[in-house]
Amino acid sequence: MKKILVSACLLGFECRYDGKSKPCEKLLELAKEEDTVLIPVCPEQLGGLPTPRLPSERQRTSKGETRSAAKKDAVLMSDGTDVTANYRKGAGIALSVAKMNGIDFAVLKSGSPSCGKGTIYDGSFSGKKTQGNGVTAELLLEEGYRVLTEEEL
Ligand code: SF4
Repeated sequence: MKKILVSACLLGFECRYDGKSKPCEKLLELAKEEDTVLIPVCPEQLGGLPTPRLPSERQRTSKGETRSAAKKDAVLMSDGTDVTANYRKGAGIALSVAKMNGIDFAVLKSGSPSCGKGTIYDGSFSGKKTQGNGVTAELLLEEGYRVLTEEEL
């Protein structure tokens, strides 16, 4: 039995900041496989944030450097609210779910400040992306889990 941790929005859960989902056809097909179990998590909701909510970004420059030492890797909403603690809490719970279920790997939503892997928005809320990982993807990678985006699946 294959166990895959999945960003809930990719399975059709309307948990994104704008109250919408981003269903991924490949994952919805995988969900029909008898030897595969998909385990949905939304780290931002698990961290206590409401839906809908303002968009958030990790604070980085376009070169992938942090904006300032004080705000190193902080996650801010577009109105400046610091939601770093929510993001870390959600990441910790997602990691616990991964451990409890003995997942084989994770498929997480690209670009998200929680779930993104490899490339995320740069913190300027201007649509620019930079190298980096979302808070949850980063924690799972640090713990040795294989993380794919839905684009890599
Ligand atoms: Fe989707 Fe992850 Fe954002 Fe939740 S935190 S809406 S699962 S990308």
